Amino acid sequence: MVQNYSLLAKRSVRGDLSVRLNEGMSNSLMHPSSLDFQLPDYAAITDEGVRHALDAGMAQHIEELDAIAQNTDPATVQNTLEEWERSGRILSRALSAFWVAKAADTNPERDAIVAEYSPKLAVHSDAILLNKALYERLRSLATRRDSGEIALDTQDAHLLSEQLREFERGGIALPDDDKDRLRQINAELADVATTFQKLITDGRNAASVLVTREADLEGLDSTEREAARSLAADAGQAGWLLPLVNTTGQSVLTATKNRDLRKRVYNASINRGFGGAHDTRQLVLDTVALRQERAHLLGFEHHAGYVADDGCAQSTDNVTAMLQRLAPGAKEIVQREAQGLQARFSIDHPEGTFEPWDWEFYAARAAAENAVDADELKPYLEFERVLTHGVFAAATQLYGTTFHERTDLVGYTAEARVFEVREESGVILGAVVIDPFTRPTKQGGAWMTSIVDQSRLLDDKPVVTNTCNFTKPAVDAPSLLTWDNVITLFHEFGHDLHGLLSDVRYPSRSGTATPQDFVEYPSQVNEIWAWEPALIQDYAVHHLTGQPMPESLRNALVSTRREGIGYDTYEKLAAMMLDQSWHTTPVSELPDSPEGVESFEATALDSWGVSFPLVQPRYRTTYFAHIFAGGYSASYYSYLWSEVMDADTVAWIRDNGGLNRDVGERFRRSLLARGGSQPVMESYEQFRGSPPDETHLLARIGLE
Ligand SMILES: [Zn+2]
Repeated sequence: MVQNYSLLAKRSVRGDLSVRLNEGMSNSLMHPSSLDFQLPDYAAITDEGVRHALDAGMAQHIEELDAIAQNTDPATVQNTLEEWERSGRILSRALSAFWVAKAADTNPERDAIVAEYSPKLAVHSDAILLNKALYERLRSLATRRDSGEIALDTQDAHLLSEQLREFERGGIALPDDDKDRLRQINAELADVATTFQKLITDGRNAASVLVTREADLEGLDSTEREAARSLAADAGQAGWLLPLVNTTGQSVLTATKNRDLRKRVYNASINRGFGGAHDTRQLVLDTVALRQERAHLLGFEHHAGYVADDGCAQSTDNVTAMLQRLAPGAKEIVQREAQGLQARFSIDHPEGTFEPWDWEFYAARAAAENAVDADELKPYLEFERVLTHGVFAAATQLYGTTFHERTDLVGYTAEARVFEVREESGVILGAVVIDPFTRPTKQGGAWMTSIVDQSRLLDDKPVVTNTCNFTKPAVDAPSLLTWDNVITLFHEFGHDLHGLLSDVRYPSRSGTATPQDFVEYPSQVNEIWAWEPALIQDYAVHHLTGQPMPESLRNALVSTRREGIGYDTYEKLAAMMLDQSWHTTPVSELPDSPEGVESFEATALDSWGVSFPLVQPRYRTTYFAHIFAGGYSASYYSYLWSEVMDADTVAWIRDNGGLNRDVGERFRRSLLARGGSQPVMESYEQFRGSPPDETHLLARIGLE
């Protein structure tokens, strides 16, 4: 995951401060940090200082952008694009320093600053995006380019087109009536999404399954039973209450032996939102109609086209083609998995019919037979060794970069360690802050973020963070990781490398400033080095004996890699297709009443050729929060889009000798270094020599 604050506010910049701002000179956020790597001087930053720097920073930013807009000289790269990238220096410094600390080590005061400043920052972004004079200034630069008066190179041209597009997607070019309607639609969509989210949360709780006889809970362990009992007690009910999770699949089905109970849980899951007190069908219909109207206002055929235009897929046709190429293979592999599970089921139930609610139970049993004992693995996965001999070592072998801890520098807490990153030549490249362990003040999950964006224009070296939530070891005890932790560390470091190896002119286009359907791809690629036998040999060493992981254990670990991958791919693919169908179908062909939602869904899956009654989409329409309440409408496909590139790249790496400097150099120079400074699919083709080939993902899921 990558965390970014608002793109417009992100453009980091340097320059002299106006006299008006000098009252804050004792505030360390008001001027560039004198620490190495421009690390924020956290010891000197106060909450009041953050507030002051945010206020002064927004004012300065607006003033500087107004100056660009009002400039009467002919528009040039220097007086428009470069000045823009230099603007808002205080704001970007304050935001990145504050945001990084807030996410990893918050307190009530920092939460209060977020609550106070989120609306102010939204107003700030709007003030920029609705500034017609600023937009006209960009247009005049584009006109001069088009008429041949001035020439723009690739990075200038891409920055200009991204900026124009951001304004235009916000409706700046529309007549006033349409602009009003657009704002009205956006407000209505925000309301509908909030209602949808509330209904599905309440609906999920209401769909919890009550069990009144303990015998029916056979298969659940005592912890699960105890949790179910206290949930029932909290709800004022006698018995055991089994809660549902968001997805169609329910983890409780992996253990439940009672088939009737399995059926009840499964049906409770897939029927959420279809009627009753938590019916979401009308909201779905309202949402897709409003989105379509907005797309038409902005000149797009449908909402999916509007969304694809902002991603690296670029068009709905490209998304459709990718999904269609994967569909037959995904169906074949899930059918094969179904046969295997059916065979297991028949041993228990010679006369019975294998049903959808039996899937997870038998899949879990198949997986358990091949599973590696986590306790056996753990002593070999000591954090420090994994970091230095695994994660860092892979980067050194690929890119020549070396990592040197700077104990004289302090991150936002004493637990956040700073490492200087050097090129093979010894030249200092940037820094990475490593903050691996959980603490009560840290957000859940794992992420990378950027404290300083690399930029040639500003001569800034990149500073990135790698923040995880691994169990904190006791004092003087080693930190032993799980295998999932190891993969997470490599994944987040893949994002770090994207930021560190960035080599672009403009800070706003640096490193991970790439479309949503692209940004996870380099980090997914970096995960493969966790599985590299020569590296495992070196980093997976028993923390007491110093012995490397036995070959048998390593082989067992590698063999678990593909477990259940057909089901995963298929259920995601089906959900992606539903998403595309809802957002490409003309309003005239959408259901005209809530009763039509279910048949629309069935017809859609049929038309994509993926109907398979044993496995439903990962989310059905009525509880698909990603697309009706989250930020993934018409872009749920992006998970597979980046995985296609990941598998295609891994195949290229394998064909080119695996872990070596030549491979790293090519990946770095033609892809990672480019960041978002040119269209990312152009970078991809420059690196790979051809567009992504889906067959490698099919091979990965077992269709070789
Ligand atoms: Zn990620």
